[in-house]
Parts: sequence; C-alpha cells; structure tokens
Amino acid sequence: MELTRLRGVGPKIADRLREAGIESAEQLLAIFPRRYLDRAGNVPIDSLDHEMDATVKGTVVSAKLVYRRRPAPPFATVMVEDDTGAVRVTFFGAQAKGTPHAFRHGRKVLLSGVVRSVNKVLTFQHPHFEFLDDEDAPLAPLPVYPLFAGFGPKRVAGLVGAALDQLGHRLMDALEELTPPPSDDWMALGAALQTIHQPDTSLTLEALNAGDTPAHRRMIFDELFFMQLGLHVRRRGVEAVPGLPISVTGKMRDAFEASLGFALTKGQRAVLDEIRRDLTGGPPMHRLLQGDVGSGKTAVAFLAAADVIESGYQVALMAPTELLAVQHYQRLAPLCEAAGIKAMLLTGQMSAAHRRRALDRIVTGNAKLVIGTHSLISDKVEFARLGMAIVDEQHRFGVGQRAALRRKEDAPHLLVMSATPIPRSLAMTLYGDLDLSLLTERPPGRRTVETRLIVGNEDAAYRLVRERVEAGGRAFLVYPLVEESEELDLDAAEPMAEKFAKEHFADFGVGLVHGRMGSDERDRVMDEFRRGEIRVLVGTTVVEVGVDVPEATVILIAHAERFGLSQLHQLRGRVGRSDAAALCVLLASGEIGDKAYRRLDTLVRTDDGLQIAEEDLAIRGPGDILGRRQHGLPAMRWASLARDMALLESARDAARRLLDEDPALAAHPKIARVLKHRWGDRLDLGGSG
Ligand code: ADP
Ligand code: MG
Repeated sequence: MELTRLRGVGPKIADRLREAGIESAEQLLAIFPRRYLDRAGNVPIDSLDHEMDATVKGTVVSAKLVYRRRPAPPFATVMVEDDTGAVRVTFFGAQAKGTPHAFRHGRKVLLSGVVRSVNKVLTFQHPHFEFLDDEDAPLAPLPVYPLFAGFGPKRVAGLVGAALDQLGHRLMDALEELTPPPSDDWMALGAALQTIHQPDTSLTLEALNAGDTPAHRRMIFDELFFMQLGLHVRRRGVEAVPGLPISVTGKMRDAFEASLGFALTKGQRAVLDEIRRDLTGGPPMHRLLQGDVGSGKTAVAFLAAADVIESGYQVALMAPTELLAVQHYQRLAPLCEAAGIKAMLLTGQMSAAHRRRALDRIVTGNAKLVIGTHSLISDKVEFARLGMAIVDEQHRFGVGQRAALRRKEDAPHLLVMSATPIPRSLAMTLYGDLDLSLLTERPPGRRTVETRLIVGNEDAAYRLVRERVEAGGRAFLVYPLVEESEELDLDAAEPMAEKFAKEHFADFGVGLVHGRMGSDERDRVMDEFRRGEIRVLVGTTVVEVGVDVPEATVILIAHAERFGLSQLHQLRGRVGRSDAAALCVLLASGEIGDKAYRRLDTLVRTDDGLQIAEEDLAIRGPGDILGRRQHGLPAMRWASLARDMALLESARDAARRLLDEDPALAAHPKIARVLKHRWGDRLDLGGSG
C-alpha cells in the first residue's frame, strides 16, 4: 500500500520514510519495537525510587503550567497519586502547553518511564502515559519503538499503528509465506507481525523482551533462513566449478613428512585425510580448520601443500602479520629445501628490488610455496598456477580479503585455519559456506599451562617469572603499549625493557619487539630469543599470534585486565609448546571491574579454548565477536546467535533442502528476489565465503 494512503502521512513524511528505505505501508512493519513496557504491573507509588524504571497507575490531583523568566517557555507539572503516595510528572517544550487540559483532575492515568529525584521530589520527566478509561481491563505490554528517520518513538508507533489498522486483512494477503515452516507452532508471517506490534495479554513482558515468542521466532527464522540460503548459494557457486585435480604418487608428501621431525597425531592424520579427499575429486576444497593454539594446524597445512605441489601447482600461505609470515617462512623454508622445492617470502616490507625478484619467481612458477601477508592478494601478484590458498588465523581477515585471494585463480582449493575456536553457532554463521575440520587434541606431551592471577603486586609477578627462567626457560613479558602515553597510566614495553635490562632480569639478556620497529631489527631480536642468546623478551601483542618458541615456559601479561578473553588465551598459547611445565602470569593493576575480573577468572579456571570462546560470547555478545572485520553478511536484526542456535540449525537445513530441490531457485522467484534484496552484491564475492 502506498505510504501516502496511510492516515497522517502526507508527501513530506512519505519522502522522509522513503529516504530511510521504507517504500510501502507493509515495510513499515519491519520497524520492530526496541522493547516492551509493562502495563499490567502495579508498582505502588510509595515504592518508587531514584533511577527506577517503573510503571504506575494513579489519579491526577493537579496540573498546571509553571511560568519562568522570559524567554524560557513555561513547563507543565502534574501530580498523580495512588493509595500509597504521590509522584510528580513534568513536560517541557511543545508538549507542556496542552498538559493541564489533558490531565484533568480525577482522570486515571498510567505512567511509565524512569523516575528521578529532582530537587528531592521523585519525578517522571516525559514518561510514556496513557489515560485509562476502563481501569480494570487488563493491559497488554506496550511496544516502544526506536527513533526512525528522525521521528520520535511515539510518532513511529503511530505510523506502524496506522499501517496495521489500514492494512487489516490485506496484511495476510500481502505478506506471502516464503520460508518453509520449521515446526508445528509456525505462525503466519502476517500474524507474527501483528503480534509483535500489538501483543495481547497472553504474552508476558519477559517473553516479549527476550524475543521468545512464537511470533519472534517466526521472524528470526525468516532472517536466519535467508542468511543461510545466501551462504549456501555462494558456496554452491564455488562448487559449480570443478576443483583442480590433484593426483600424486605421495613422494613429496613423504619427503615433507620426514622433514617434520615428529609423528602426526591421530587427529592431524584424520584432518589430512579429509583435506586429501577434498583435493582429489569434486568441487574445490572450501574448508575451515579449527584448532586451539598449538594444536598443530601449521603442520597439517604444510603436509596438505605437498600433494598440491607435487601435482605441479603452487601453494600460497597467507598470514595476518609480517611477524607470522616471517616465522612461517623460517620454519617451512628449510623443510621445503629438504624436500627439494623452493619456498618464497613476500611481504610489504621487502625492498622494491627484492620484491620484484620474488614476484618474478611467483609468476614463472619457480616458487612453489609462497608465504606472505595480505600483500599476497595485491593485484600485482600473479601466480603461474595457484592450486591452493591457505589462510592462517583466518578470524583476522575479513570475508572480502578471503574472497580476493580466492579470485586470484579460477578455483584454487581453499584452506582457512583459525585458532579462535568460535562457538558452533558463530561458526555456522560466518562459515556456513565452509566445511569444518577440528583438531581437538594437542600434540603429545603438552601440559596445560598453569595460570595465576596477581593483582597489584608486580614484584611477586617478576619473582615467579624469574624462577622459571632460572630453571632454564624463556619468558615473554607482554605490555599493552609500546611507549608510555600521556592519557593512560600504564607500563609500556619500551621503558620496561630498559628497566628489566638493569634490574630483575639483567643476567638473562632482555630483548624488545613491537609492531613499530623495522622488520630487520625485529627478526634479529626474535632470532636471538629463539636461539636463547636472550631469554627474556619484552613486547606488545605482536607476539600474540602464532609465535612459536618451544623453550618459552613463562609468559607475563601486564595490565591483563585491558585485554580481551580470546586475546589473552592466544597470548597464553605462546607457552606450553613443549613437555616442560609452563606458567602464565596475569598481572592486573589495582582496580579491576567485574567484567574484567570475570575474564581473568575464566582464564585461570580453564585452558579449553572452546569453553573460553563460549564465555567470551556470553560476556561480550556475538556482535562484538563478529566485529567490524567481518563484512559480507547481511546485518542481523532479530536473531541472536547466543540464543537462537536451534533455529539456526533448522534454518540451515531448510535452506539446504530448498537448494537441493531447486538449485537455481528457478521455481521460487520470490525467494530469489528477497534473497537478492537482502544480500545485494555480497552474493558476488567471487564465490568465496
Ligand atoms: P598451531 O598453528 O595450531 O598453533 P603449530 O602448527 O604452530 O600449532 O604447532 C605448534 C607446535 O607443535 C610446533 O612447534 C609444532 O612443530 C609442534 N607440533 C605440531 N604437531 C606435532 C606433533 N604431532 N607432535 C609433536 N609436535 C608437534
Ligand atoms: Mg599457527
């Protein structure tokens, strides 16, 4: 229905709505209430308190305008009482003038909002109010709308209300059922929208505010269904191209494996088998390898590369930081050499001449394993025959970046690795288009890292570190900043390294690494640490990801309260990489908040990455974890990943079933249209997730 046919909507208002993306009366119903207000509750007025969010019912005793010195306009003040006491209500601005007329003595009124103590008088300022003509009728919870297109909540409520009234029965006809019903309590779309905007008294306030009603579930399912459908369409787009055929004698694989110097765990073997199955037939591999820090993902990726290389293709390994790329290179290059193939490093910090040479070798196909940062996806990098792309620590890359790598060739196999063991619900959302492999066990002999929280007492923390280094270990000391800052009173890496070179650790050799130093200098320090020439390494979180020095047995994280849970877990993973006992000292400053304490305590209690990720999800909420890096998904308005796991699974199944039946959605043009509308360009990401 045309917007202008709605009561109270003229061309101007219609234009404003259109600018905000609302084209029709039906679409107005997509503005959901922010929350619902209680209208049943009967809070006695004498139990109100400062800052309380409450709903009361009472009778108007008086109402008047209070005049102030010009030019300040008058404001209105109303007194409302019940059997227990009285409360003041004030209205300012345009609303003040009509107030005394509306709030006539003796009228019953419901007030809802936050009460504040103003000059010691408890006062509702601009509360939601409703006159109760029939006081005894039970009142259903009242939706409160967000600000929209510059309209206030009440105005939005009016617009939505008009749409509901005037659409009436036609609502049901206009809104077709597109999504397949997942369960018996499946509501019609129109009825669901009606309930969400005009809940009846059978629904409790709690259920409504938690989004836990059949009507909400109907809408949430719809959202999840189209999200999963898009992910799977994208995925199947990839599958439409046949994968590069990898067929080998296994000679290279044996050579790679022999160069490792250890035997694979059963879990590593199983994952390799999955990968090899992907490589030898069917569509291109599109797999996520998840495993906690230190679970041995790099080794798996390296061995997976062997078959691809033996088949005459190149393999690209993309790391999120320069430091990590260099480390991968330093670890893998000798292994490659032992197996008789050429590895190549490509980073943004290389000299131009160096880089040109590297690019040459990549385009001629001479370099078989190319390791680099995201500079690998820059347009100038051309591969002779890219057979597989491996993306390390995938959570640090946006979806778009993965896509770009993927586009480098027609359809190279793709293996992404992540040490952030995201909960399953999140994995399905982000990677609904990837197959999932899990490394659950750690390499043999690994012990859990003992973790201690020390609040305030730095010397005690240093003593603990010292003990471990004296016993033959090496230590990481991590600080949140490189230099001291004027705004934040925090210890920083640079000054602390200077201090430790003189006291506490002077006898062990102290090095410093951080993101701002040149890569030559940083490599030199890392090498000294790796070789044991220095045994205490002070740094920033550049050491967070993937740094692998098995002799490191203790890590101290200063100002631990400032780090996020998964970041702390990553940092802790820098130690415990050999069979020696390892220690993580979380050094917190004097005053830590509840949330920070909960994070640190979680870390002390468990070493299980998945449990930590779930706790993280609980503390931070999924929006934060998805972060701004994860582009490429439609925004989720209604679904909550922490809450709607079951719905997510049934939405995924429904999406899959539909695509199995009708891969091109040829028989479902309307679904195809809605899908396109919701995903826009994002369905054309070169086929990658
Ligand atoms: P991730 O990338 O999953 O954090 P890595 O692949 O870096 O883990 O492995 C961590 C450490 O464990 C490395 O030093 C690696 O050489 C070693 N490692 C990997 N797999 C095994 C294994 N099966 N047995 C012994 N050590 C292993
Ligand atoms: Mg790794």
